[in-house]
Amino acid sequence: MSTFDPKRTVVVATGNAHKLAEIRSILGASPALEQMDFVALGELGNFPDPEENGKTFFENALIKARAALDQTGMCMAVADDSGLVVDALDGAPGIFSARWAGEHGNDEANNNKLLAQMEDVPNNMRTARFHSSVAFVSRDEDGEEVLCGEGDCEGSIAHDKRGNNGFGYDPLFELADIPGKRMAELEPDEKNAISHRRRALDDLVAKLA
Ligand code: IMP
Repeated sequence: MSTFDPKRTVVVATGNAHKLAEIRSILGASPALEQMDFVALGELGNFPDPEENGKTFFENALIKARAALDQTGMCMAVADDSGLVVDALDGAPGIFSARWAGEHGNDEANNNKLLAQMEDVPNNMRTARFHSSVAFVSRDEDGEEVLCGEGDCEGSIAHDKRGNNGFGYDPLFELADIPGKRMAELEPDEKNAISHRRRALDDLVAKLA
């Protein structure tokens, strides 16, 4: 199948090249993992996606990381799961963020649904956050170790879309730390410095130390 050394390889269970680069750069700088090769799951074979039937972001991240180990026979894997949590909608769309309007990954439909559901919600009740959970799983003869990283990026839901960068709900997400600015108006480097994923990976790095 591959020439990767199972003991020196961390499988990154994502098909997203940006996430792979972000994970490699942040986790690869951690003293605990600096000797490791970070390899995308797709480089090791063509595997079916596992069913993400967890009840939390972390459970779904763990499902993806464990599946990557089962599929590849490697010893370490990392996966993330993320989404938008809106207070006025009791936490929706949450773990269903990607497919909230029906079709997986239809950002336009998801954003339109969010605008419609928030139509009558007053400004002081439009608070929301992006959340990311990262699961790191390592296996050896003695069993399995699981570490978790969690990160949030706080903001609120605007009344219209603005900005051309990013993806998903970024055009509707106004940042708490930069009032008036939408996530979709940030340059990629700016977003990566403050994103929920960045914070979840930093949290994981602190636990790996
Ligand atoms: P995933 O876990 O990266 O696949 O994200 C699941 C869904 O959450 C995406 O399809 C988006 O709808 C939403 N989402 C996650 N992260 C972001 C983000 O950084 N900006 C906007 N939407 C996001």
